[in-house]
Amino acid sequence: MNIHTFLLDQTNTVSAGEEVITTVCITLAMIAALTIFRGLVLTIFNFDTSAAIGSKLFNHVELRKVKLSSDRINILNKHFPYYQKLPAKSKRIFESRVKRFCDLKSFEPKGNLLISDEMRIFISASAIQLTFGLRDYRFMHFDNIEIYPEKFYSKRGRAYHLGETDARNRTLRFSWADFVKGYAIDDDNRNLGLHEFSHALFLNYLSGKKDDVHFEEYYEVWKSEGSRQFFKLKKERSSYLRDYATTNLMEFFAVCVECFFETPDQLHGFHPKIYNSIKKLLCQDPKVLHKEVSH
Ligand SMILES: [Zn+2]
Repeated sequence: MNIHTFLLDQTNTVSAGEEVITTVCITLAMIAALTIFRGLVLTIFNFDTSAAIGSKLFNHVELRKVKLSSDRINILNKHFPYYQKLPAKSKRIFESRVKRFCDLKSFEPKGNLLISDEMRIFISASAIQLTFGLRDYRFMHFDNIEIYPEKFYSKRGRAYHLGETDARNRTLRFSWADFVKGYAIDDDNRNLGLHEFSHALFLNYLSGKKDDVHFEEYYEVWKSEGSRQFFKLKKERSSYLRDYATTNLMEFFAVCVECFFETPDQLHGFHPKIYNSIKKLLCQDPKVLHKEVSH
């Protein structure tokens, strides 16, 4: 090795060492910057990190929250147990979503019914409860919500119905008497609002409205696990889930969602796989929400 080659080798060794140190420094600086950025996002956008809701980052980030009037907040405080159990920060997000949903939809009275603000808020809150863990809560395939005083005759079904999710006409239909009953008795695993919005959630997705990355990611997972559990239920039945769940996969999901919110501990106890797959799909855990409140 002549002196020239020796000097060149030394220079290369020093350069390689400096390069490693520079890379480590840049990586550490990037980690620090990302940590600070995340902290800022959580603070500025009021992001809720509770274990019950929004475990996926950014699902609750909203650049411009809208305010719900105090009269409307009173309606939620009076009639909506799910909202009552939420931490204060989540309540603000819930209120904003309720207002946006309510403004997006056309509410139409049927029969001799007069639509009140209470009806609009109550129905909107049911949609927001179901989708509260998700990023997209708008059900954009559905424009109209028809409210009947009680059960109504369905031309499509040729029978009296309590509720109907009509994707073809972009319409949801509810019997108001039965919608109210669903929330008045909150542990009988029957909730008309959650049931119909569960159908609407799937039909909205199947219509091509794939605006929620999380839902899209878990839909196929739910479909395969849900189908497995559905066929198991058809064979073995359940002392807990009502028989209507065996009608088809859509009804299975809707009935399970009613149980998921009304008696989460029991659904988890009897059918842990069903509970966990809905928890993943909807990105929320009512079991934890119940416990957080009782502590
Ligand atoms: Zn149904």
